[in-house]
Amino acid sequence: MSTIFSKIVAGERSADVVYQDDRVTAFRDIHPAAPTHILIVPNREIPTVNDLADGDEALAGHMLLVARDLAKSEGIAESGYRLIINCNRDGNQEVFHLHLHLIGGRPLGGMVKRV
Ligand code: 5GP
Repeated sequence: MSTIFSKIVAGERSADVVYQDDRVTAFRDIHPAAPTHILIVPNREIPTVNDLADGDEALAGHMLLVARDLAKSEGIAESGYRLIINCNRDGNQEVFHLHLHLIGGRPLGGMVKRV
């Protein structure tokens, strides 16, 4: 079973890829929530944060540093942005291939709606 994000990583599904190396791929979200909305995914299928192994520490850190660099190249590093990883049902995760959302380019308001 291959996720839609694995197909993008492999070039089998079209996407606006903005960065790729041997560990991660970054591409623009198909339904952007803001002027910049990029998904940073590990090339290897890892379903959720829960499935990260201790040995994935460098990979997880790499995802964060790629987000930092993309924020700079997108011109939103100084204005600010938000990094989000949704996990499972309560996190409203839709695609079960770990991904870090990089969202910015407009004021994003409060972090989570208080109910
Ligand atoms: P989640 O809710 O799992 O954290 O976020 C999944 C994200 O993937 C959503 O923001 C959705 O718009 C995006 N997405 C789903 N399918 C595709 C696709 O085929 N291509 C791209 N570029 N983004 C997708």
